[in-house]
Amino acid sequence: MSQFQSLEHALKRFFGYDSFRPGQRQIIQQALSNRDLLVVMPTGGGKSLCFQLPALLKPGLTVVVSPLIALMQDQVESLQDNGIGATFLNSSLSLAQVRSREQDILNCRVKLLYVAPERLLSEKFLPFLDLVQHKIGISAIAIDEAHCVSEWGHDFRPEYRQLQLLRYRYPNVPFLALTATATERVRQDIIQQLVLRQPNIHIASFNRPNLYYEVQPKLKTAYSQLLQQVRAAKGSGIVYCLSRKRVDEIAFRLQQDGIKALPYHAGLSDEDRTSNQRRFIRDDVQVMVATIAFGMGINKPDVRFVIHYDLPRNLESYYQEAGRAGRDGEPASCTIFFSYGDIKTIEYIIDQKSDPQEQRIARQQLRQVIDYTEGTDCRRTIQLSYFGERFEGNCANCDNCRFPKPLEDWTIESQKFLSCVARCKERFGMNYIIDVLRGSKNQKIQQNGHHELSTYGIGTDKSVDDWKMLARSLLHQGLVDQTSDGYSVLKLNALSWEVLRRQREVKIAVPTVAVIEESPQRVA
Ligand code: ADP
Ligand code: ZN
Repeated sequence: MSQFQSLEHALKRFFGYDSFRPGQRQIIQQALSNRDLLVVMPTGGGKSLCFQLPALLKPGLTVVVSPLIALMQDQVESLQDNGIGATFLNSSLSLAQVRSREQDILNCRVKLLYVAPERLLSEKFLPFLDLVQHKIGISAIAIDEAHCVSEWGHDFRPEYRQLQLLRYRYPNVPFLALTATATERVRQDIIQQLVLRQPNIHIASFNRPNLYYEVQPKLKTAYSQLLQQVRAAKGSGIVYCLSRKRVDEIAFRLQQDGIKALPYHAGLSDEDRTSNQRRFIRDDVQVMVATIAFGMGINKPDVRFVIHYDLPRNLESYYQEAGRAGRDGEPASCTIFFSYGDIKTIEYIIDQKSDPQEQRIARQQLRQVIDYTEGTDCRRTIQLSYFGERFEGNCANCDNCRFPKPLEDWTIESQKFLSCVARCKERFGMNYIIDVLRGSKNQKIQQNGHHELSTYGIGTDKSVDDWKMLARSLLHQGLVDQTSDGYSVLKLNALSWEVLRRQREVKIAVPTVAVIEESPQRVA
């Protein structure tokens, strides 16, 4: 590093940046001292620099394992644009191209070599790496998207498991594992599977201050709601839908309305997918309408909005998908369209699953999504608490902080609800309780004799959706509990009794979706 007075000089010289992002400097210093490292940073946090700069400052070659060919090409191109010796080897190259690149490497013209994991472990490649190690030295092995080694992550790739062979083959070469997946379980798995040696672990905050988070009630005229939002947006964006059919439909309608939009889902041919993705990245089209198949490794820093037209499956995927917005650090927005109808659809899908354990997990994940969408707290507080990170709230950059919802006093309704739970002996779930309150003719109620309870039929003045909203809010506020055995039986707790004894008022924020759905003129 002697030719640079400081890391900042090197940063400026190679990448043109004036300063490090949080965490980068320390990580780079540790990488320079040949420590094993595990770097957990949200998408867009600047992980690449953490292995790229050390690669340039150390003698020898840094090998970067990266799962996606498209991503690899992007990164290598942008490094080359900066005049940095980088190249990749993958199945898209001819033998002659491979030979010439290998020669460049042995002639020290390359500092960063990107490879896909399957290549790395192929018969011909390992002897080549031995030669590199012998002649010029391997300065580090960086493993991007390291969560792919873990079955607990969202993108398990069995080839990644083989990477530990490299650890044994080159015991003195430091490993750098990088991921944006935050859960503790995945972290532990990465350390174990890659046999990291007392790694320094860096876990950056998952807060993405430049993203504006909001949830909008999904109107009956959801499509016009979307169109309006897309028209108002500055720059490009992604619209996520649950089904391929919906993706095709929305992409088509947007095109009809003069928006440059393309679909992306697993039902398209490889060529179409690659071409649509490329056109999106190059700004030929403004909007990518996609299923969750789209996204991992998409390096488009200036995505200005991500809209979830349908409810996301779980909070972790939501965080990742929404996180594809604003990777350049400039303001961007993340919107969920939320309706009770969507919850019913997902509940239906969950009911079709045959494995009870899977059902249970799916239900719990759905609950968390609903808690998020219905929550009246700062959206960041809710999201980050899911990753085990505390956030004070008042972020000034989410809908709940910018437009706090008016609170209504629903103490009496809460008392009705909770006393019905008590009278049904705390043995039923939300839907049953609501049926009793609304005086349903449901056979089960008759069989249980619950049509004779004093709380039977005392809730006809509120809709099922209103009661559900109240029940969820009570759960969210901890005013009633729910068993997590998959049956979601409601149980009273000490706070429930305070409400029942009139020692506590219940306030809920009422963005009653049902009401808004009836007045689509609000869209205009
Ligand atoms: P990640 O891999 O963590 O998702 P990237 O490494 O792709 O993130 O970085 C995201 C964006 O931030 C890229 O456009 C990158 O050029 C930019 N970036 C990274 N470090 C810095 C820095 N110190 N200053 C300015 N921009 C940076
Ligand atoms: Zn907030």
